Amino acid sequence: MSTINHVLVTGGAGYIGSHTVVELIEAGNKVTVVDNLSRSEYKIIEGIETITGTKIDFHKMDCLDAEALHKLFSQNKFSSVIHFAAFKSVNESVAKPLSYYKNNVGSLIVLLDVMKTHDVKDLIFSSSCTVYGQPDQIPVDESAPFKKAESPYGSTKQVCEQILEEVATEGFRVVSLRYFNPIGAHPSALIGELPIGVPNNLVPYVTQTAAEVRKALTIFGNDYNTSDGSCVRDFIHVSDVAGAHVKAIDYVNKQSKSFYEAFNLGTGIGVSVLELVKKFMAVTGIRLNYSIGPRRPGDVEKVYANPEKIHKAFGWQTKYDLGQSLLHAWEWEKKLRDI
Ligand code: UDP
Repeated sequence: MSTINHVLVTGGAGYIGSHTVVELIEAGNKVTVVDNLSRSEYKIIEGIETITGTKIDFHKMDCLDAEALHKLFSQNKFSSVIHFAAFKSVNESVAKPLSYYKNNVGSLIVLLDVMKTHDVKDLIFSSSCTVYGQPDQIPVDESAPFKKAESPYGSTKQVCEQILEEVATEGFRVVSLRYFNPIGAHPSALIGELPIGVPNNLVPYVTQTAAEVRKALTIFGNDYNTSDGSCVRDFIHVSDVAGAHVKAIDYVNKQSKSFYEAFNLGTGIGVSVLELVKKFMAVTGIRLNYSIGPRRPGDVEKVYANPEKIHKAFGWQTKYDLGQSLLHAWEWEKKLRDI
């Protein structure tokens, strides 16, 4: 007889977290969400409730608050935790490295300590392909070594993975998912990304330019050693990323011993920045105002996943292609702006 999982999702009001909560509920899991709403808004929780027709057990809470977490763990018997709560801006991390270490590394340590006290052993951790830097071999697989991180943000992900690998021996069962470039939004356009200020990431910048919130998109460099000179990335629909977390819970549940394992979470398809911009124009019919600018410091030339390991271990595949991902991103932008 299978029991229902009760999953604690930290950062569940965030971009990937909120989409994962939807997928978890739709797969029949019980979910509790904590989020300090420092980088999101309560309307995202309401969006999840509308999509799933389920009242969300939501707690406005900071993962650095050990006392509050202990209380929550005493009141619930969680079967597993998915830890999304973290800062994710590369630029901001360069300006405020200490706050990135405190929030990203500090909250993981607090969480692990609370989990250990309450005998909750299963954890899925949000990592990033940034741990690889510019890999020597592409597509990159999980055996590629960590290169020196380009930013304190990337460094926090490397440090967290290292902590998890060592701490897992204390009885934890841990999966790190190394995200490539999540884009798009839920097909309902009820939840999506809420960038703060001027977006750093490509797709929110594209959709804001299309919505005429930004005058023009700058493509950072066309002199890279790629087919059209622009950088190459592995763009993956956020709902596909979310779906992999549901599979990760099943995978962890099946293990009998403590372990630590990292998985690439990408499509395996390399797409250039220019190709993405052209695809956006083709699927939306919008003529995007863009120009070529200088390279952005810290950008790697080309990175995309070898997703074989996750395909085999989780039986997971993507459902959405690039065109659908971009259309869903645009639908969400229109909803945000009442267009
Ligand atoms: N990019 C761009 N213009 C922008 C934002 C991003 O040309 O306004 C490029 C960036 O140089 C990189 C790619 O788009 O090659 C993806 O950048 P993003 O910040 O979305 O993700 P990253 O791969 O850096 O994590």
